[in-house]
Amino acid sequence: MTMRLLRGRTLSFVTRPQARDDHRSYVYEEDGALLIADGKIIAAGSYDKIIDQAPDSIETVDHRPHLLMPGFIDPHIHFPQIQVTASYAANLLEWLNTYTFVEEQRFADQAHSERMAKLFFDELLRQGTTTAVAYCSVHKGSADAYFAEAARRNLLMVGGKVMMDRNAPDALTDTAQSSYDDTRAVIAQWHGKARNHVAITPRFAITSTPGQLEAAGTLAREHPDLLIQTHLSENDAEIAYTLELYPEAKDYTDIYAHYGLLTDKALLGHAIHLSDREMGAIAEAGAIAVHCPTSNLFLGSGLFDLKRLKAHGVRTAVATDIGGGSSYSMLRTLDEAYKIQQLRGHRLPPIESFWQVTRGNAEALGLADRIGTLEPGSDADIIALDASATPAMKIRMETVTRLEEELFLLQTLGDDRSVRVVYVAGEAVSLD
Ligand SMILES: [Zn+2]
Repeated sequence: MTMRLLRGRTLSFVTRPQARDDHRSYVYEEDGALLIADGKIIAAGSYDKIIDQAPDSIETVDHRPHLLMPGFIDPHIHFPQIQVTASYAANLLEWLNTYTFVEEQRFADQAHSERMAKLFFDELLRQGTTTAVAYCSVHKGSADAYFAEAARRNLLMVGGKVMMDRNAPDALTDTAQSSYDDTRAVIAQWHGKARNHVAITPRFAITSTPGQLEAAGTLAREHPDLLIQTHLSENDAEIAYTLELYPEAKDYTDIYAHYGLLTDKALLGHAIHLSDREMGAIAEAGAIAVHCPTSNLFLGSGLFDLKRLKAHGVRTAVATDIGGGSSYSMLRTLDEAYKIQQLRGHRLPPIESFWQVTRGNAEALGLADRIGTLEPGSDADIIALDASATPAMKIRMETVTRLEEELFLLQTLGDDRSVRVVYVAGEAVSLD
């Protein structure tokens, strides 16, 4: 059994912060330690306490003065879009048709999928993201490449073969039946293999016939433990077109509800333009509204209404949405999320932001017993963050005296340069 002790300033959340100084929402140790064995955290606390429990010969890695936190979780990202990011488009539908649907066709080539999977996970890890929930392409082979590479690196990754059978190029469409069959094959082959989790992945209502959403609903009923991911109410033109395609629906949310896809396993990307009825239905189902701030700004889609969603009791998450998003960094993502809430007149405390990208996102995935915290029993996916990583950060840190200020500095000026070390299941990974 390999055992090691990580020493550092440890921070782990226990609940969603209710105020900017809600100290009961997290556990922070100025001189903390994590005892790790066989890929898991087996003890956490002050260094003095943990060193007493460790064997005399224990290998110790001292990360002070850096912050040791659970690895970041990105619950909405598109694996086949790493060469789409930074594409110049007026809006969502133009961006999809001009760039994304062209690029995703290249994933019919297995060698291309395998090369991109390696580059994708290299980049996520460099950014301190140890778990992501990804859309693969329509091709089953893209999901095979994604999960094989995740397994090779022992990463806890969630993903799914995209289901789309209309309103896209022929080379990028499946059928209701083939999408059902291929998703079942992906589940059989990959779900529970190594640390992989499969998600049922109808892209969105525009690219699925009613028959395909029905098939997705059948998959959800047959596999109630699986996550479901799709897009909801991102952009005005998208919403209008969706309602034309589903004229019998009360609203956009009602389409997914009708097909059994609005459940407590559903990750609803964007969820920007929603009525009170829709927010109530989402809250009642326990589904999750996934805020994708850099994408929403980049494509000019709209401003996520966090305050209203919270008032309705909707569960939330925050994500990059690469390649509509413009940064892989969850720190950059928190900065843009904060600014969107500023425009909404809603002040978002830094401890709530850091709760969201760790435990909060883990709770959204139903995986908080495995990832997102430093609690004993958790998988040892851990990052060391440096709030003095750049000259500008270093000079600002001279005036910082409180943890909350340091977190706010990290999210405002930080990026991949602040991610000093990443452990995956207890093993440090190379970030070159
Ligand atoms: Zn997306």
